[in-house]
Amino acid sequence: MSNENTPKSNTGKMAPPQPNFKIDPNPGTHVKKMIAVVSGKGGVGKSSVTAMSALWTARHGHSVAIMDADITGPSIPRMFGVGPYDLTANDTTIFPAQSVTGIKVMSMNLLMEQEDQPVIWRGPVIAGALKQFWTDVAWGDVDYMFVDMPPGTGDVPLTVFQALPVDGILIVTTPQDLVSMIVRKAVSMAKLMEVPILGIIENMSYVKCPHCGEEIHIFGSSHIDETAAAEGIPVIARIPIDSSMTAACDSGKIEYYDGDFMSGLGKVLPEI
Ligand code: ADP
Repeated sequence: MSNENTPKSNTGKMAPPQPNFKIDPNPGTHVKKMIAVVSGKGGVGKSSVTAMSALWTARHGHSVAIMDADITGPSIPRMFGVGPYDLTANDTTIFPAQSVTGIKVMSMNLLMEQEDQPVIWRGPVIAGALKQFWTDVAWGDVDYMFVDMPPGTGDVPLTVFQALPVDGILIVTTPQDLVSMIVRKAVSMAKLMEVPILGIIENMSYVKCPHCGEEIHIFGSSHIDETAAAEGIPVIARIPIDSSMTAACDSGKIEYYDGDFMSGLGKVLPEI
């Protein structure tokens, strides 16, 4: 049966209805808004930005969770100083780890006996495991869940977007990234998924001179403003290279890091 709302293809024939791949969460999960953090490639600071976004949101009075969907490079547990012993489970359900300030975390690394054990799985198996982070983990009441996505726009991130109820996307880039291409790819993916892009964060944007405070753009001048303006997306943060951030991440003390670069998030987070 069709009506005037049924989409037509450009040949005039009826297009098949788009399949809905969304999966239901665990009955013990009540997440109000889900924000996916994406990047064009690994190593640009996507996990660090996910962590800082979660921290900023928690510091503003919200209950916050991080789903670490970057299965092959899971760094969230290390940053928050949580390990496998912080997970609890019964026969059917897993309960996420909680950081010192109460941020809930689930990551493949929490299921590994050793942190440095590699996950040697093909895409469909990884995607299946990620779906279980939604179906088998009881996240409880969460205002904002941040999803640290696998880098790129390949089949695993696509499956995650199709399966989870993502409300908005944050894009992380660096000045040496091929920014306009990466942003255009993310914009295309977001359009396909019908999810709004909330903003772009430029990480490793500059170094601040410890003597005079001058901002040194060691990767050359940034093109983030033109790119963002061309796509109509706000730039919500520029984060400097800061060795104390690296140290905080590496020692599990990101929650004690006092760099406050994410205030632009307040303007773009969807209301709950
Ligand atoms: P990704 O998730 O994109 O792979 P990460 O967030 O894991 O990247 O960051 C990679 C490494 O770079 C980590 O050691 C992290 O501490 C460091 N790092 C990220 N952003 C910064 C920054 N702005 N200043 C200093 N170190 C950073």
